[in-house]
Amino acid sequence: MDTAEHGTSRKRLFIGLIAGTCTLVCVLLALLWVIPYIGLRNIHPYAPWVLGAILGTLFVLVLWASLGLLLSVLSPRPLPLAQRMRGVTVKLLLPLMSLLGRALGLSKEDIHTSFIKVNNELVLRELGRFDPSRILLLMPHCLQNSRCEMRLTYDVDNCKRCGTCPIAALLELRDRYGVHLAVATGGTIARRIVVQKRPKVIIAVACYRDLASGIQDTYPLPVFGVLNERPNGPCLDTLVPLDNLEAALTRFIKP
Ligand code: SF4
Repeated sequence: MDTAEHGTSRKRLFIGLIAGTCTLVCVLLALLWVIPYIGLRNIHPYAPWVLGAILGTLFVLVLWASLGLLLSVLSPRPLPLAQRMRGVTVKLLLPLMSLLGRALGLSKEDIHTSFIKVNNELVLRELGRFDPSRILLLMPHCLQNSRCEMRLTYDVDNCKRCGTCPIAALLELRDRYGVHLAVATGGTIARRIVVQKRPKVIIAVACYRDLASGIQDTYPLPVFGVLNERPNGPCLDTLVPLDNLEAALTRFIKP
């Protein structure tokens, strides 16, 4: 379960990484301007200033994006550019943050989990509520009991609802709320399901690695991520925190 304390420390980690990434990029841009400065003057007297203007614009853009994102994360209310901020986070800052985090010796799990936490907050602030038919619950294949022989990828209703694994409870949740439920074995199948169902929001359950890459791949379609539980190690007979999932579901469904 995601405790409030854990959530806050993940958010703090994310904020630290954004601040570090922003500083690093700005220092690099400043260096790019300073280093060729002396050489450029020999080419043309105005050349250093032209390069300075280009790099200065980039400097302001990175600073603007990072500050905007920090405000989005810290503000209790949605900001006008919430979707842009999510795009900047997903496409630009996550790869940069991952590099910086790795260089600082942070684990991928910590970096990705903090990214998922902040992504979820931005999605919650940006989105309203939808008809159940526009909501997709996307599950990983490893939730299915490893000894069950039913094929769920093409039709989740092949499940006999024996209750050995979480799929039976997920089907019950789907029927109760009228949303879509799909089980995917990988990114390609997940993409095909998304094209078929055309959801407005995806509530995805997976490990931190698959969730972080899924959120990136699916952008601009919003994904709310719920981490799975792995009592038997990765990818084997995993579990889903049903309370968290149902809470997310009721948040996005039109009353
Ligand atoms: S609930 Fe039973 S039948 Fe359904 S997928 Fe799990 S083990 Fe198989």
